[in-house]
Amino acid sequence: MSNTGKIVGVNGNLITAEFADRVRQNEVAYAVVGDIRLKCEVIRVRGNRADLQVYESTNGLKVGDEVEFTDELLSVELGPGLLKQVYDGLQNPLNLLAEKSGFFLQRGVYLPALDYEADWDFTPLALPGDKVKAGDRLGVVPEGIFKHYIMLPFAWSGEWEVVSVQPADLYRIGDTIAVVRNAKGEERKVTMVQNWPVKVPIKAYVEKMLPTDTLITQQRIIDTFFPVAVGGTFCTPGPFGAGKTVLQHALSQYAEADIVIIAACGERAGEVVEILREFPHLEDPRTGKTLIDRSIIICNTSSMPVAAREASVYTAVTLAEYYRQMGLNCLLLADSTSRWAQALREMSGRLEEIPGEEAFPAYLESLIASFYERAGLVRLPDGGTGSVTIGGAVSPAGGNFEEPVTQATLKVVGAFLGLSRERSDARRFPAIHPLDSWSHYHSVVDADDLALARQVLRRGNEVNQMMKVVGEEGTHIDDFLLYLKSEFLDYVYLQQNTFDKVDGASDVERQRYVFAKVVAVLRSGFDQTDKDAMRRYFLELRQKFIDWNYLAFGADDFKKQEAEIDAKIKEHSKDA
Ligand code: ADP
Ligand code: MG
Repeated sequence: MSNTGKIVGVNGNLITAEFADRVRQNEVAYAVVGDIRLKCEVIRVRGNRADLQVYESTNGLKVGDEVEFTDELLSVELGPGLLKQVYDGLQNPLNLLAEKSGFFLQRGVYLPALDYEADWDFTPLALPGDKVKAGDRLGVVPEGIFKHYIMLPFAWSGEWEVVSVQPADLYRIGDTIAVVRNAKGEERKVTMVQNWPVKVPIKAYVEKMLPTDTLITQQRIIDTFFPVAVGGTFCTPGPFGAGKTVLQHALSQYAEADIVIIAACGERAGEVVEILREFPHLEDPRTGKTLIDRSIIICNTSSMPVAAREASVYTAVTLAEYYRQMGLNCLLLADSTSRWAQALREMSGRLEEIPGEEAFPAYLESLIASFYERAGLVRLPDGGTGSVTIGGAVSPAGGNFEEPVTQATLKVVGAFLGLSRERSDARRFPAIHPLDSWSHYHSVVDADDLALARQVLRRGNEVNQMMKVVGEEGTHIDDFLLYLKSEFLDYVYLQQNTFDKVDGASDVERQRYVFAKVVAVLRSGFDQTDKDAMRRYFLELRQKFIDWNYLAFGADDFKKQEAEIDAKIKEHSKDA
């Protein structure tokens, strides 16, 4: 018999129900309004009362209505066919929903996340008699350009013996592809689909390793100055309009990841619609096809109930962990974690919990930390590796980084790429601030050169501040030269035109090559003491480098431009 309760209170998306039987924290339930069943999650149990967050508008729900408890945690369906999908936070396929019920959710309409009719070309990998554990591979189907492994469900603990495996053929995801038996003699059928609770990390790996390899993003300011690691974490806080979304698009396209998962979380409806319109058409530089072929989008807008927003980042990271288990490198980009935190704040407020800073729940920090902790480079049972790299945009009100979400994020991430209003207003894109940002990971360039470049940026900025007070005439010639060099470095290297095919993506070899030449300029002295001549010279040199950035690396015109640059450098430089 199903376990039911009665609603005794409704407060926005929070309902309270009385029950007779047993109810679990975080279990899924349905509130019944007429013939509509609204999905909810138990977020607090006290005595025989449960508080539930409803993932839908609670219009029409009233005291006395029935709640059905399921005894199951909020879960996602995992199996072939996840790629290319656009889901909401509860893994409802929005493409299908759009066909069925207009663009966004109709209340109480839930659709299967995966297509149970499609055929998949299955090849067995396990043999009868093999001993397998959760996460071990029983077979494989091709999904796009990847091998999608069919694994023993993560929830099946202990050792199992393969009793039988289906021969290579076409199967649907619900078909039995193997039968396994455990030591107690219990037999289970394995299909190509399994469920996993979103708030529990998938831990079917052997060990988590320290992320050391740089995740190449082809963005110069990132790979050279503020690198990200494969399996690491980073955040991109910035005020509205500073370029967080554009940066995430660039990372999706150019970062060296296999699978890209976008959690478009609660930005305004218009922005999410924009992501849905634009993202699927972004070109995949790796295949020449569209990026969506190796992506999954999870999206919620602030017009959707807060609870669905809260779920979306967990859904996204669970999908990333699933593909990591197949030996793939996954990049999860959450835009923006601030909206997620706001959802937590709203729910916490309704629960009348004792609030922490700025009314965020006191456990905000630990929730943010446990989300980023799901990133990681792991060793898999077959000896291979897989990774989940997490990058979260943060959109603090007014771009003030001294607020709880940014601060809590800073404590846990390995790289901080702070976008600045000042730089975006000056159209210095990507607007990552070269003095405020930091990274614990390895750069792709020489450490001494990098230290020198950082020093030029820092001192150049000091000179610039000073010049605002004392004017150019009052500035010492050496300081003035330093300032010109820092501006030169900024324009030719830190800034990059995301929208240009050539300049938008700079591979490691090119970054090292160009950076070495930029550093040569930074190291050299200048053979005159006339400030106007100096400024003119650096403007001309800057333009030559910028033009160079738009030419394909190593091509004839690239070499021709380089010869011009070398000649220009010789004009005035002397050993520093
Ligand atoms: P956010 O997500 O931080 O609110 P967006 O990423 O939507 O900001 O960027 C806002 C606008 O700034 C873009 O529409 C674009 O005009 C400009 N912009 C952002 N990044 C770049 C870039 N790398 N190059 C050129 N323009 C950019
Ligand atoms: Mg945005």
